[in-house]
Amino acid sequence: MTGNSSLLNMTKTRLTLDDKKVINNDRTVDCNQLVPIKYQWAWHYYLDGCANHWMPTEVSMQRDIEQWKDPKGFTADERHVIKRVLGFFATAESLVGNNLVLAVYRCVDSPECRQYLLRQAFEEAIHIHAFQYIVQSLSLDEGEMFNMYREVEAIYKKDQHAMSCTDCVLDLSLDTRTKEGLQIFLKNLIGLYVITEGIFFYGGFVTMLSFGRQNRIPGTCEQIQYILRDESIHMNFGIELINAIVAENPGVWEEKFKKEMVEFIKSAVVLEVNYIKDCLPNGVLGLNTELLKEYVQYIADRRFEKLHLPQFYGSNNPFPWMSEVIDLKKEKNFFETRVTEYQTGGALEW
Ligand code: FE
Ligand code: MN
Repeated sequence: MTGNSSLLNMTKTRLTLDDKKVINNDRTVDCNQLVPIKYQWAWHYYLDGCANHWMPTEVSMQRDIEQWKDPKGFTADERHVIKRVLGFFATAESLVGNNLVLAVYRCVDSPECRQYLLRQAFEEAIHIHAFQYIVQSLSLDEGEMFNMYREVEAIYKKDQHAMSCTDCVLDLSLDTRTKEGLQIFLKNLIGLYVITEGIFFYGGFVTMLSFGRQNRIPGTCEQIQYILRDESIHMNFGIELINAIVAENPGVWEEKFKKEMVEFIKSAVVLEVNYIKDCLPNGVLGLNTELLKEYVQYIADRRFEKLHLPQFYGSNNPFPWMSEVIDLKKEKNFFETRVTEYQTGGALEW
């Protein structure tokens, strides 16, 4: 981390691709020159993010409001899980946004990566807005929803786990030019992109989208669907960022550190499964703790794979329809067109 974005010196030496590094730029090289573009992948994630732009208030919440007000609209178990998921996301998006702006951005020197981070930061603001809009539309208890991360242990533990590695990066004296410093930063990237956005969001995504597949709370689910699409780009960018830092600083990815990261991810899987148990004590919509556990383990293996770490669980994907949702274009009639094909049960194919 150089934090030298204000650095400007008169020079006749022009910046070349070889001068650019994702992190730990030489202090004489500035962070302002996007072109020549070296990290094409980062630039393309930025363009993809822009192509997916959406706003929460474009989505009608009318049917959600009617359904939620209807005393017979949802069982007590269904209302419980919906509130738990919205309560988790209501503050999780803020934690991500703060980490991104206050810790990650400062340590990444590449202007191409910073361009994407600026885009991602705005998307996090849109996600925070989305949950505020949903909570307000459904007239949920705002105090209950926005304090859940302090009051519900299963949520608190998830947030604690992901944030445990952020404090050291917020420390301005962190030096990412040392191996230890860079490992601290990489651990925070794994906590943010792989664990929070890549594992902790997925229990909520699957349960909420299962309601959407039944055409229930369709406006909420349409927004969750856009968020999932955004988040899958965030995570892919983050993993590419981690892999690029490792490629440029191979000494950092030593066996001991890799083992520590595997354990870090595995303990996140346990916390996500505990959270799911708290959300779904009795199961709803054909979803149950066992299926969701299998799913969380399945996606954790996908994350290990992308980080070139050994896969651990060998679980199958009980919700193959989730990958379709991630790839979806922005089509307003998404759920409507599939109502007649809907089958109860989380494990069925569309
Ligand atoms: Fe987000
Ligand atoms: Mn995100």
